Amino acid sequence: MRLSRRWLRPLIAATAILGACAPAERDYHHEILAFSTYVSVTFYAVTEEESRIALTQLEALFHDVDADWYPWTPGELQRINAAIAAGERIAVSERLASLMRAATAYEQQSQGRFNAGLGRLIELWGLHEMANPPTRIPNADELAALLQTAPGLHSLSWQGFELSSSNPELMIDLGGIAKGAILEESQILLRAIGMDNAIVNIGGDLIVIGRARGRAARIGIRSPLSDTPLARVVINDGESVITSGSYERFVEIDGTRYTHILNPISGLPVAHTVSVTVVDDDPVLADAAATALMVGGAGEFDMLVEALNLEYALLIEAGGDTRLTPGMRERLQWIDQP
Ligand code: ADP
Ligand code: MG
Repeated sequence: MRLSRRWLRPLIAATAILGACAPAERDYHHEILAFSTYVSVTFYAVTEEESRIALTQLEALFHDVDADWYPWTPGELQRINAAIAAGERIAVSERLASLMRAATAYEQQSQGRFNAGLGRLIELWGLHEMANPPTRIPNADELAALLQTAPGLHSLSWQGFELSSSNPELMIDLGGIAKGAILEESQILLRAIGMDNAIVNIGGDLIVIGRARGRAARIGIRSPLSDTPLARVVINDGESVITSGSYERFVEIDGTRYTHILNPISGLPVAHTVSVTVVDDDPVLADAAATALMVGGAGEFDMLVEALNLEYALLIEAGGDTRLTPGMRERLQWIDQP
């Protein structure tokens, strides 16, 4: 249809007025310090006001979780662990209860490779005090005595939202699943306020909501060996990318590095695997799975991929060999193959 000049002019004028009234939209990028790391948040094509509201709500979420989900600072999880150690029953918030139930399920599915009940083991290795690192490895008898009690969330019994444990040596540490859970909560929050296109990235673990600048997001997978990404993968709306690595957080004792990811069965830090990346639309599963696959290594890769029902996983061994699921092989675009 051709518009005559008579119509075109008022139309242009009306569009100009609308444009002037509508607040400008653009991409906003924010960095927030939380969980001892940087959380970077990008909102695509939003107004300044929308960006400000979303940021404030995310910050409030991070603030609550920071205090309540970490076992070594005062907060809800610390109170729960104190009750377990004292053999007492305690009421748990709905939020932490559902996270603990998920952790219990992943502990069972991964046959104990993922085990959020390893707080005492983390303490024995001194991995909870990165600022004050240990100078020797744990005493073998102490380690054996702890493993003998087989701490794990399987010892929890629930009555509604109250829990107790038959094992006073159980200390819950949700570090292996917390980032996934925060990404999930961030996603629910952002979608609820109409933030349709965003990326929340917690120190490299991220969730994509919608699209980035009108296109599917292309995410770099971190290399354990260099700063340049190893590969890229197109991430769809609602998918998360979670990486567990032995190279990021560790303690050095007598010249040997011990990673913060422990095998809950042997009690030893993982040495055979440097990193695992999982892509999934359930960030909590992806986080638990990345940790479990680190523990299982190449030898248990197929078993755990099946047990946890994963489609997209990549594992890099200490020697540089890789293991990939067929789905991941199809999606990955290598930049710098190890
Ligand atoms: P990252 O810190 O690289 O994101 P993870 O998701 O694997 O890695 O989380 C590591 C944290 O999880 C550790 O700091 C510790 O608190 C906890 N953890 C270590 N080993 C295990 C394990 N086998 N199962 C569950 N949690 C673990
Ligand atoms: Mg994890």
